[in-house]
Amino acid sequence: MRLYDTLARKTKDLLPIDGQTFRFYCCGPTVYGPAHIGNFRTFVLQDVFRRTLETSGMRTLHVRNLTDVDDKTIRESQRAGQSLTEFTNFWTVKFHQDCDKLQCLPPHIEPGAVEHIPQQVMMIEELIAKGHAYSSEDGSVYFNIASFPEYGRLSHLDERELEIGRTQAQRANADEYEKQSVSDFVLWKARRDEDGKNFWPSPWGDGRPGWHLECSAMIREYLGESFDLHSGGVDLVFPHHENEIAQSRCACGGDFAASWFHIAHLMVDGGKMSKSLGNLYTLEDLAEKGWSAMEVRYVLLSGHYRKPLNFTFDSLHAAREAMLKMAKAAQQLSAKAPADAVLTSVEFGLFQGAWDTLNDDLNTAGALGAIFTGLREAVKCEGLAAAKALAAFHRLLRALGLVLPEAEKSVTVPEDIIALADQRLAVRQARDWAQSDVLRDQLAALGWIVKDSKDSYELSQK
Ligand SMILES: [Zn+2]
Repeated sequence: MRLYDTLARKTKDLLPIDGQTFRFYCCGPTVYGPAHIGNFRTFVLQDVFRRTLETSGMRTLHVRNLTDVDDKTIRESQRAGQSLTEFTNFWTVKFHQDCDKLQCLPPHIEPGAVEHIPQQVMMIEELIAKGHAYSSEDGSVYFNIASFPEYGRLSHLDERELEIGRTQAQRANADEYEKQSVSDFVLWKARRDEDGKNFWPSPWGDGRPGWHLECSAMIREYLGESFDLHSGGVDLVFPHHENEIAQSRCACGGDFAASWFHIAHLMVDGGKMSKSLGNLYTLEDLAEKGWSAMEVRYVLLSGHYRKPLNFTFDSLHAAREAMLKMAKAAQQLSAKAPADAVLTSVEFGLFQGAWDTLNDDLNTAGALGAIFTGLREAVKCEGLAAAKALAAFHRLLRALGLVLPEAEKSVTVPEDIIALADQRLAVRQARDWAQSDVLRDQLAALGWIVKDSKDSYELSQK
């Protein structure tokens, strides 16, 4: 596979450093509420990325963290009157359920920040010892970004006019930070009253780790000092990923991530998503409106990951139609394939174009288009060729993580019913609506429901 690397600013071939397993890390969710479809754009694309590597025969090691302690989780758990653990466990379960509905494979390792406080404390100690961090009067510890000249390479800070501040007022203590200023950032946050019971001991006094640190500590624990790829939403490039690089390179040496994979924003109806606009949809919101998680997934795959994607209800309608078309084609193919055809072939045949497109910078949108091109040819196949085409089609669907809806049950429609329906189509095309209604009633009386489309119809049994 070839993929665009944010750091190198070019598309590169992806091969595992150790020649065996492709090891990658994704910044996970902050578990303080339901994830919305914008969050899921990132997780779904990361899932397709992994599935594509695995479909090509590569082994993967996928690590994704859970942020279960930060300003937001503490504040919201207190509002909910629950302990931090109770509260974050609840939202973790909910997140996993949503991931399952979206067919996102669970990561191989999913570490939580709270369980890795000792590793984070150790990393701070090393950073202080090596002169990259300092403690302040109140018992907080900050990373000294002036000590790391490479700071800003990922987000190309040198091309932006940003101020570097080191005064107390300019230091970034909050997990929710000002994105347009570069400043020393917090590694250890001294205990404050509003933290309640959520503090841990450290050489600098009670407190808790800053948000950026957990990823560095968990990456070191599970992937070591150098690994294949790091991924997240584009909003994490600065400062979160810059800070991760600074912490890890200064504490551990090593190259850290060989490649960076960032997924662009999701927009809704052409604008930003926000709570106040009421367009911060969760899977549950969309399910209430009658949309399945698979239809949401299809929409999320319908644009290139490097460009913002506009989510609309029209795009959900289009996704539904596209998936029904795919399901019908699959049904046609399986009807023509010999029942005893066992296929172990890994060839993509008619779907080679779709597979190549997917491997070219994870072009999911292009791959979906190419799948339809493949299907148009595939449905002309007979016998073993139909079976082969079907196997290749399913292989691609697995790479995209799409599960098709059951195509309408295959029922044999009696000739006389088809004749009536054809007659009705003819009168409809002649705009004889009265006669069309009469024929509809006749069909209904015989037990058949007819559903009209532009120049065709579908029959189903009552
Ligand atoms: Zn992270």
